[in-house]
Amino acid sequence: MSRVYNFSAGPSMLPESVLNKAAAEMLDYQGSGQSVMEMSHRSKIYKTIIDGAEVLMRELMNIPDNYKVLFLQGGASTQFAAIPLNFMNKSGKADYIVTGQWAKKALAEAQKYGDAKAVASSADKTFTYIPKTKREDFRPDADYVYICMNNTIYGTVYHELPDTGDIPLIADISSCFLSEPLDVSKFAMVYGGAQKNVAPAGLTICIIREDMLGHARDITPTMLNYQIHADNGSMYNTPPCYTIYICKLVLEWIKNLGGLEKMKLRNEAKAKMLYDFLDASKMFRGTVVPEDRSLMNVPFVTDSDELNAKFIKQAEEAGFVNLKGHRTVGGMRASIYNAMPVEGVEKLVAFMKKFEEDNQ
Ligand SMILES: *Cc1c(COP(=O)(O)O)cnc(C)c1O
Repeated sequence: MSRVYNFSAGPSMLPESVLNKAAAEMLDYQGSGQSVMEMSHRSKIYKTIIDGAEVLMRELMNIPDNYKVLFLQGGASTQFAAIPLNFMNKSGKADYIVTGQWAKKALAEAQKYGDAKAVASSADKTFTYIPKTKREDFRPDADYVYICMNNTIYGTVYHELPDTGDIPLIADISSCFLSEPLDVSKFAMVYGGAQKNVAPAGLTICIIREDMLGHARDITPTMLNYQIHADNGSMYNTPPCYTIYICKLVLEWIKNLGGLEKMKLRNEAKAKMLYDFLDASKMFRGTVVPEDRSLMNVPFVTDSDELNAKFIKQAEEAGFVNLKGHRTVGGMRASIYNAMPVEGVEKLVAFMKKFEEDNQ
């Protein structure tokens, strides 16, 4: 068996030990005589899985008790509508910082439901930086401020959160979930699709402060009402059972590695290798301003489209797959999520060095 190094932005690599464990338990989960795929979501045995996932998530992320952890479906994109429907209901205003495609889509969706405003944007420089904001930039009566924490397509991340004062802060953390410690208490809600760093596609995790709940507008579809899901322990309807099971295995893997502090050190080491190489290279360069660089998504280019195409093709032949940049950006992007082994980045850098030498 030969496995590639998959630099996809998502769905992305899962830890090999997780895949092996899932394979070993595929036909008979812990003596139950069934696969997790076949279980009733209301069975006792399944309850140990979903409860176990929540306990581990709370422990690893140090989630305060006054936050709900919801295991939902619909992807991050469904929350773009659910967030205004649930929360944009006092003044009917919400302020968005537009740092890329995902924030832009979230804003456009919220504008269907009320006065959602872009208060800052980095569109002027193709989203290669995080715009600086001051507290005065936000409308004091805004129901929330919305950010996309890690910008998967452009490779930027908030190293410092915007100061929103008393206004609730909501963040899409799809592509940096569990990549390093996060102070959840600074947010009214964080959420993300699981397919980047947590599990296969099909699961969306929403972590919401309890006082935010209970204000959804009447027209909110039942399935988009966070209160309903919170009241029903993520079991209002059938949850994505198998994906939650894999999520639990991934959380166990992170815990065994030493938790999010350790994960951060590992991710910093991987990203540094790649950025150091890009900074020294005469052929390749990173596209993001150094102070806003993501640990998870590293976009880079050469000065020639032909050379980019040649690099992507040869890299793929050598077992480094999905390095093509997003269609709106071009060039290359290496997504180096938690499950990308250190040696995967080492080998990629060695390959890039050799490519540069061979193509001078
Ligand atoms: C991938 C991604 C999304 C979209 O997620 P879906 O689950 O496909 O809807 C949204 N936001 C960010 C930051 C992402 O990386």
